[in-house]
Amino acid sequence: MSILRMSKTLIKNLLHGPFTIAYPLKKKETYERTRGSIGISIDDCIFCGMCERRCPTNAIRVDKARVSWSIERLQCIQCGYCTEVCPKKCLDMENQYTEPSFGTVRDVHIKCTNTQSPSES
Ligand code: SF4
Ligand code: SF4
Repeated sequence: MSILRMSKTLIKNLLHGPFTIAYPLKKKETYERTRGSIGISIDDCIFCGMCERRCPTNAIRVDKARVSWSIERLQCIQCGYCTEVCPKKCLDMENQYTEPSFGTVRDVHIKCTNTQSPSES
């Protein structure tokens, strides 16, 4: 790289300021295809456990007996594998990020299985 080109790049970068933002003080911009936090349509889940087995960070827990699905938000690396393997396509990547936290953030979803008809109650 010539001295002239290097100087141009140097001056451009000096004038530009930092390329990073002071997150979370400043909100990070999201886009249509942003890989945000994982969402679930719990009513469609069949608790097969495919997402739990495929998750590389063990962020997901599936409990078939308790019909519950949970995720440790800050353990998720937004790879999207769980959304790809779900046979019911009930997982999706939302267009938002998990709020920063010093502790663990586990979101638990429990499927309502009360199928009792009004006449039975
Ligand atoms: S892969 Fe889909 S259907 Fe299976 S447990 Fe996970 S979310 Fe539920
Ligand atoms: S996006 Fe990746 S890391 Fe996050 S829960 Fe799904 S499989 Fe696990």
